[in-house]
Amino acid sequence: MKYIDADRLIAKLGAEQDALREKFVENGDTDLAMVVLGYGSCISTIATEPSEEVAEVRHGEWDVVYNENKPWALGCSVCKELIYLTRHESESENPAEYGTRFCCNCGARMEGVE
Ligand SMILES: [Zn+2]
Repeated sequence: MKYIDADRLIAKLGAEQDALREKFVENGDTDLAMVVLGYGSCISTIATEPSEEVAEVRHGEWDVVYNENKPWALGCSVCKELIYLTRHESESENPAEYGTRFCCNCGARMEGVE
């Protein structure tokens, strides 16, 4: 499924409709008047289509935050929230692999975490 910004599309179609309406007023071409009506029908159809609120997906990654003493922490690259690792996780070759798929604070989808 592909989501679009319906408000932005309606505004774009409305601007095109206004431009065509001005041409119609200038030259009285009745074919143009039918096109203007067609734009109105399209705008009405889009405006009355059921819709849902969707949130933009943010992408981030876990940055390893090194301290003098283990355990270390992982920091979200989007909101900087820290999650602390156990000593065992800190001693891993790649501590970032212990991060969650999504940041528990801001909901960012973390790259490289399956
Ligand atoms: Zn975050």
